[in-house]
Amino acid sequence: MKRLLPLLLSCALLAGCGAGQASPSAGTDADTQYFFAMDTIMSITAYDGDTSAALVAAQQEVNRLEALWSRTRPESDVSRLNDHAGDGTAVPIQPETARLLETAAAAAQESGLAFDPVLAPVMDAWGFGLTESETTAVHRVPSQEELSALLPLTRDLPQVTAGEDGSYTAALPLTGQAADLGGIAKGASAAYVVDALTAHGVENAILSLGGNITALGHRPDGRPFQVLVTDPLASEDGYLCTIALEGGLTCSTSGGYERYFESDGVTYHHIIDPSTGYPAQSGLLSVTTVAADPALADAWSTALFVLGRDRALELWRSGEGTVAGMELILVTQGQQVYVTQGLEEGLQFHGEEAGYTYEIVRR
Ligand code: ADP
Ligand code: MG
Repeated sequence: MKRLLPLLLSCALLAGCGAGQASPSAGTDADTQYFFAMDTIMSITAYDGDTSAALVAAQQEVNRLEALWSRTRPESDVSRLNDHAGDGTAVPIQPETARLLETAAAAAQESGLAFDPVLAPVMDAWGFGLTESETTAVHRVPSQEELSALLPLTRDLPQVTAGEDGSYTAALPLTGQAADLGGIAKGASAAYVVDALTAHGVENAILSLGGNITALGHRPDGRPFQVLVTDPLASEDGYLCTIALEGGLTCSTSGGYERYFESDGVTYHHIIDPSTGYPAQSGLLSVTTVAADPALADAWSTALFVLGRDRALELWRSGEGTVAGMELILVTQGQQVYVTQGLEEGLQFHGEEAGYTYEIVRR
């Protein structure tokens, strides 16, 4: 495992917001666990409490949730839900899955379906549906006819029903529908990881769950963690800025640079605009959200990437709704970086040399 660490670290840095490079662990009893789950590299560093038991429990939580939410494991809640799409079966699901589907539906409704948890048929048509490790994943550009036929399957959300005994079932109304929770599952896991850590006495920890960083408490020196925000145009580990993160907040980044393929000289990335079925072309290179709820941070970084700068800032400025309670970093194709005012204090901008300029957005 030791031998792999440099590789794992560089992957973590590439995955959106990287864990704090300026997080001194010298003189503390910090303990770090790296592992592969949900198709990505994860790392958790705990600074206090029963760190070894906490990290084992935390990783077990992620593995347990992956077994529920994976699209490629036939027995998962999500696979069984998808298998019964349109046949009228109410599929028993775990409470964690019910909560995830409800959070996903709330983000879908509030974003006008820019975040769409039932986009799987379209993702599959592009070959983005299967995991990176699936050797059968074939990226291709679907025809307009093919996409037009699939789009009607991407609008009706799963119906979740609570039984009187506390059990849950879910159903997808249309044949051919399928849920894909890849845009929210990693963020949603963070809440469970935090609970597992807290149960073992951990009060200060930093979690990096594939593009989603959660800061529990603060650094051992009492200061906030420093989180790197990736330069979406950099070929190496370049980063745009660092921001301060503490007190349970989560930072989530979505960008077209994370997964893509090229065909006939055109680049196609993995964040799809559900209104067209094509990769979102909103003029943004990446969106970073900072929020108290890690699942919503994750879902909305994807949604705002689809919606674009103007709509994102409009939602933030409105003072109402989920986005108004978040802080944002929007990076445009013109290399303009918009940072909302709540992040100003802990911001260190490093993008000038690479050609970026930034402005603080105020209400
Ligand atoms: P990543 O998972 O690479 O960190 P995101 O959180 O932005 O990045 O999620 C992207 C994933 O979400 C895609 O791989 C796909 O599974 C799914 N997805 C793509 N477009 C959408 C969308 N418009 N709404 C919901 N999920 C999406
Ligand atoms: Mg997301």
